[in-house]
Amino acid sequence: MPFAQARARAAALDRADPLARFRTEFEGPAGQIYLDGNSLGLLSRPAEAALQRVLGEWRTLGIGGWTEAATPWVSLCETVAGQLAPLVGAAADEVGVTGSTTGNLHQLLATLYRPEAARRVILGDELNFPSDAHAIASHLRLRGLDPAAHYREVRSRDGRTLDEDDLIAAFTPDVQLAVLPAVLFTSGQLLDVARLTREAHARGIVIGFDCSHSIGAVPHALAAGGADFAFWCSYKYLNAGPGAVGGLYLHRRHHPRSPGLAGWWGVALERRFAMSHTHEPAAGAPALHVGTPPILSVAPLQGALELFAAAGGITPLREKSLALTAWLIELADMHLAPLGFTVVTPRAPGRRGGHVSLAHPEAWRICQALKAAGVVPDFRPPDVVRLAPVALYNSYTDCVAAVERLRHIVTARAFEKFPAARDSVT
Ligand SMILES: *Cc1c(COP(=O)(O)O)cnc(C)c1O
Repeated sequence: MPFAQARARAAALDRADPLARFRTEFEGPAGQIYLDGNSLGLLSRPAEAALQRVLGEWRTLGIGGWTEAATPWVSLCETVAGQLAPLVGAAADEVGVTGSTTGNLHQLLATLYRPEAARRVILGDELNFPSDAHAIASHLRLRGLDPAAHYREVRSRDGRTLDEDDLIAAFTPDVQLAVLPAVLFTSGQLLDVARLTREAHARGIVIGFDCSHSIGAVPHALAAGGADFAFWCSYKYLNAGPGAVGGLYLHRRHHPRSPGLAGWWGVALERRFAMSHTHEPAAGAPALHVGTPPILSVAPLQGALELFAAAGGITPLREKSLALTAWLIELADMHLAPLGFTVVTPRAPGRRGGHVSLAHPEAWRICQALKAAGVVPDFRPPDVVRLAPVALYNSYTDCVAAVERLRHIVTARAFEKFPAARDSVT
């Protein structure tokens, strides 16, 4: 389909899009088409309003905000956990709004990793986000175990995706716990969380998922699927702002466990201010809270989540996201494949998350050129341009514009004026 025709079709799709009205709720860099919501989601009006509300409460109530604010700060995390629960398919008391992705993984390992003589390997994969590998290795060292012997990474066959059969084959009797990404941050592959959970449990393995690249883009049914734990950040598809508070999920079967890393914010609310040195844990996942939450970064999450509810939840958002990524893949196949780009994101809808990854040997310089041409992508080493058309604020027309500009950048060799050095990655 020539670009003129693609633009007309995109315009028609945009007009028929029931979620298009949410675009005006968001603001981004002026004059830019923003396709980087899988790294940092955009600011929305409700997120900003919630932050302003809390700032106002701080101004007028001072310490009183903890109990007298519109949503009392003392239980703001529990309130937001209730909003988040449908996005992960869990009950509110299985969700904790706390910490950061990496900090939460540390907490979950401290809580759930139970090495025994014959079963003490932690299983990961070589494509997961590096922070997870750092957390696992350092956690093993804290327990007096050598990561070289006790942390095992499943290899990728093609350097981009994971084969679920390889993962399952690695669920050997010496593995105690497995940590896998739900969506791979480089290729955008979506793993079958329910199948992996079933297979892990059949072999006595505790399993959890890093949902940083899936939450807010892909529906999850963590509790029904039985996954033991999950953790995520809120600044990608959840649009809660840079460094916003993270989250975790802990299946009900583990609620009787004591938190590995305890603190007074994990004490039951009614006992927290008794100031006892005996830890009396809150019911459920909030027992894994540690210290006073960063209210100024919880508030924008509360606001941002209002839009997910207003949009009808994750199902219509996933539907649009899949339509956008399918459209982007179709355009890339037609206009970019002949220029040396390869779509490395799996094509089956049930197999991909919210972004499309295009591999090209000049990916780094192409990304610089694309930014200069008014489209914000991101680059992931060694050769991937990632484009995330986000259902809440991107359009079919955005996808056409990105592909048109990419095509021009390569045919006119406009990327050649950008430095080839990849070390100075932003
Ligand atoms: C973004 C991301 C992280 C980031 O961890 P932080 O602790 O929030 O910095 C971790 N894991 C994955 C898979 C991610 O996509």
